Amino acid sequence: MEKVTKTDQEWRNVLTPQQYHVLREKGTERPFTGEYWDNHQEGQYHCAGCGEILFTSSQKFESGCGWPSFYESLDPEKVEEHVDNSFGMKRIEVTCKKCGGHLGHVFPDGPQPTGLRYCINSASLQFHPDKDQAPQS
Ligand code: FE
Repeated sequence: MEKVTKTDQEWRNVLTPQQYHVLREKGTERPFTGEYWDNHQEGQYHCAGCGEILFTSSQKFESGCGWPSFYESLDPEKVEEHVDNSFGMKRIEVTCKKCGGHLGHVFPDGPQPTGLRYCINSASLQFHPDKDQAPQS
């Protein structure tokens, strides 16, 4: 996989301040404020940093946590997981393998078949709806 690397200034130039904060500074958007936690359209979720397709609507589920949640990523080769001990918690951080952007965390309290909950910031994602679906009413 060809990695996307940019200088800090280049990232600032292409990302919104919110995207920059989450993707490059490992920030977290406030729950129930992001664009996609309540999105029920069919489509693909791309990395907002590099455009790689990371998640799909068919793996999204209603977690009630206020962030878009998926029981698995589209391709395990496209995301990386790292132990994150910040804030006095042991969590598993999820990043985009291609650009290194912070996406969110994965928790072991999701539904079957994986039992996982990828809790992802909307700001890290760019949703592309499937073309052949009726507009959401
Ligand atoms: Fe990326």
